[in-house]
Amino acid sequence: MRAADIIAAKRDGAELTTEQIDFFVQAYAQDQIPDYQAAAWLMAVFLRGMSRRETVDLTMAMARSGDVLDLSDVLPVAIDKHSSGGVGDKTTLIVLPMVAACGVPVAKMSGRGLGFSGGTIDKLESIPGFRVELSVPEFKRIAGEHGIVLCGQSANLAPADGKFYALRDVTATVPSLPLIASSIMSKKIAAGADGIVLDVKVGLGAFMPTIDSAKELAHLMVDIGASVGRRVVALISDMNQPLGCAVGNALEVLESLDMLRGNGPADLREHCLAVAAQMLMLARHRDGTIPPYAMAEYLAEAANTLRNGAAFAKFREMVIAQGGDVSVIDHPERLPRARYIEVVPAAAAGYVAQLNAADVGIAAMHLGAGRERKGENIDHAVGVIVHKKVGEIVAKGEPLFTLHANDLAKLERAKAQLLQTVVYSDQPTLPLPTFYDIITAG
Ligand code: URA
Repeated sequence: MRAADIIAAKRDGAELTTEQIDFFVQAYAQDQIPDYQAAAWLMAVFLRGMSRRETVDLTMAMARSGDVLDLSDVLPVAIDKHSSGGVGDKTTLIVLPMVAACGVPVAKMSGRGLGFSGGTIDKLESIPGFRVELSVPEFKRIAGEHGIVLCGQSANLAPADGKFYALRDVTATVPSLPLIASSIMSKKIAAGADGIVLDVKVGLGAFMPTIDSAKELAHLMVDIGASVGRRVVALISDMNQPLGCAVGNALEVLESLDMLRGNGPADLREHCLAVAAQMLMLARHRDGTIPPYAMAEYLAEAANTLRNGAAFAKFREMVIAQGGDVSVIDHPERLPRARYIEVVPAAAAGYVAQLNAADVGIAAMHLGAGRERKGENIDHAVGVIVHKKVGEIVAKGEPLFTLHANDLAKLERAKAQLLQTVVYSDQPTLPLPTFYDIITAG
């Protein structure tokens, strides 16, 4: 087989065979196909698209390009979650201990933030000593002993996707449904997931700009899962404004701890309960037959773990198991704290009509909470607290944001950015929904 023939076939609109896709993916992963040919192929896929069958083949070829974890010796069923990325999205920090506290063990590998989108591993590193780098045997041991483990990607998961993704980033081929769907699903399948709850974000701070595009991506990923025997549920959730109030690593850990103690913002709580309930559903009804009222029961069970302290206790247990300083969890005021903390008052009065999540994420990134390029250092202490969300009324001079900064020039810049991003209305505005839809197989 020749790479050039496979590129030509896709260029001319042909449906590639399973063998052609597998050949191309494995050869590229092993550096036997150069970047220029892979780039041409990606552009051909971008322009011509892929059938469902081709997309499933691409997913499985990328999943098989590296290690494929088998968690069956430590987890009765491996339920994973994935968020398509967003601002203030600390869901994993809250949901994993909730689900574990309901008796469903969870073992998850997460990523770092890039651009205005945060990453779970960066947030966890706000906790002094917390080890995010675990070997696969350690990862499995902690999962078996504690029923919860959360670390960075230690195994060599879907390396073909890593190479393709870096190339897509610089060849304008990221926004392609088959390429995005296969990229996300290949990593989840390689990480050993039997069931996956996908949190597909939509809106100003999301990858998918419209509800229709988010639903199309969600349907494709649910179908890929069904084709390879994985149960997948996709929530279409709002990312027009930040999730919860805190944006920035230690600030988000603080908000997560607050939620795990039974407090916290209502939108974040609703969001976490829904994700946790869907994970419980996948774990407990593996054949897909859902009894009536199951959702209500699982929502109540998940909520109970916040009320009775069980989720907080699981988080604490995870921190101890992974070497973190547990005194920080018991005394969150010991989390990294910025030098300058400044309240930004509203410049006008009115109902908040828009609070662009991307702008808030970018302001936090400029404060040092995120990185513009892979590998950059971040400042765990800095970030933004949002005091007013869409639909709320605000008086002139009322606190709108609190900025946490370690550099006065950066603080001033973020302040100016944030004041510009709020759109007011003199008419009442509706709060944004947390979810727009749920996509399931069948
Ligand atoms: N996230 C991924 O992992 N891959 C994509 O292609 C897009 C978002």
